[in-house]
Amino acid sequence: MTIIDLLTKIRDSWLKEIAQKIREDSRGGQNYESDLIRFYDLLVQVIETGEMESLSPLLAEWVSSHSELELEGSIIRIPPILDKIVKHTGDVAKEHLEPDQAIDVIQALMPIFTFSFEAIATQEVLARFSHFSEQVELAQADLELIDKSKSDFISVAAHELRTPLTLIEGYASMLRENLAKEEDGDTPELLLIKGINNGTRRLQEIVDDMIDVSMIDNNLLILNFQPTWLNRLFEVLENDVKGFVKERNQILEILAFEGSQEMTFADSERLYQSIRNLVTNAIKYTPDGGKIIVDGRLLDGFIEVTVQDNGIGIDQEDQKKIFKKFGGLGEVARHSSGKTKFKGGGPGLGLPITKGIIDAHGGRIWVESEGYNEETYPGSKFFILIPLRTEPPDDKVAKLFKPMAGGGESQTDSL
Ligand code: ADP
Repeated sequence: MTIIDLLTKIRDSWLKEIAQKIREDSRGGQNYESDLIRFYDLLVQVIETGEMESLSPLLAEWVSSHSELELEGSIIRIPPILDKIVKHTGDVAKEHLEPDQAIDVIQALMPIFTFSFEAIATQEVLARFSHFSEQVELAQADLELIDKSKSDFISVAAHELRTPLTLIEGYASMLRENLAKEEDGDTPELLLIKGINNGTRRLQEIVDDMIDVSMIDNNLLILNFQPTWLNRLFEVLENDVKGFVKERNQILEILAFEGSQEMTFADSERLYQSIRNLVTNAIKYTPDGGKIIVDGRLLDGFIEVTVQDNGIGIDQEDQKKIFKKFGGLGEVARHSSGKTKFKGGGPGLGLPITKGIIDAHGGRIWVESEGYNEETYPGSKFFILIPLRTEPPDDKVAKLFKPMAGGGESQTDSL
C-alpha cells in the first residue's frame, strides 16, 4: 500500500478523532472541521506533488486569526489546530494501521509538519512585526499631534496675553507719570507701581519666549545675518548682567580667546540672546559666591564658545531633555521665583530657544556635566559651535555689507 492509500484509509478516523480532541479544548476555533478537511487534503496533495508551499495559504490564515493580545505576547503561538494535528496524528495512525504502516505514514508526514511549524513561526514573526510597526506609527502620530497642540497652545496663549499686558504696561506708566508729577521721591504708590512694572517686564519676557518657541517650532525663525564680532557681544553682555552677578556675589570671567575677535556673518541679536540665556542660567543654577567662565576657541570653520559654572550640575540622563521645550527639570513650586535667583526655575523655554537659534545658524549646542549634586556642586559646561562665515550667506546680505566681506576694514554699528 502506498502512503496515499494509507492516508485514504485513516482519513475518516483522523478527521473524527482530531476534531474530538479540538472540541475538548475550547480554544479550538469555530471553523476547525472544514479547516481539518482542507489540511488533510493538502497533506495528501503534498505527498503526491512534493510541493509543501501549497500549505502556506492555510497556515497564513491560521496565523492571521490571532488576536491583538496574542500578537503582543512574547511567545510564538502554534495555532491550537496544528498543535492537535501534530500531537495526535501518530496515535490515529498507530490505532488504525499495522505498526510498520504507521511508521511509514509518520515518517512521510514528519517533514510536512516541520515545514508547517517553520512556516507558522515565520508568518507569526512577520505578523508581529507589522503589528508593532502599526503601533509605532500610531504612537508617533499621537506624539506629533500632542506636540502640535502644545505648539498651537503656546502660540495662541502668547498672542492672547500680549494685548492685556500692553494695556497694563500702558496704564501703569501713565499712573507713574501722574504721580511723579505730583510728588518728589519714592512714595509708597510709586514703589507699588515699580512692582507692577517689574512683574509686567517679567511677563513680557515670558510671552516673548513663548513667541520665539512657536516661531522655532513652525520654522518661522528668520535670521538677520550681519557682520558679528563675539567680543563685542561679550562686552554688552558683561554690562547687561553685572547687576545680577553682583547681587549673587558671583564672579563672571569672560576670557579673550582666538576667534572672539573674528568677524563672522550671524544674526547678532539672536546670537546674543542665546549666549545671554546660557550665562543667566549659569548665574541662576550656581550658588551665591560661585564662578562663571565664558571662554572659547577657533576651530576649523567654527567658533566654539563655552559657558562654564560651578553650580548644581545636570544629570547625564537630563542633558538632552533640557533642550526640549518644557524640559525644565524643576518642580512647579520653584517656578517664577525670578530670572536670576538661585535655582529660580522658569518656564523651561530658554534652552529650546537657544538651541533653535544655534541650529538655525547651522551650529550645534550641547552640555557636559558630571551630574547633579547640590552638595559638591560639580558644575556644568555648555558648548556652542557657531559656523565661521567670512562671506555673506546670500546676495541680499552681500549687497548690504559689501565692504565687510572677505575681512574688510570698515565696520558698521552692528554688535
Ligand atoms: P528654565 O526657564 O527652567 O531655566 P531653561 O530652558 O533655560 O529653562 O533650562 C532648562 C533646565 O535646564 C532648567 O530648568 C535647569 O534644570 C537646567 N539647567 C539649565 N542651565 C543649567 C545650568 N547652568 N546648571 C544646571 N542646570 C541647568
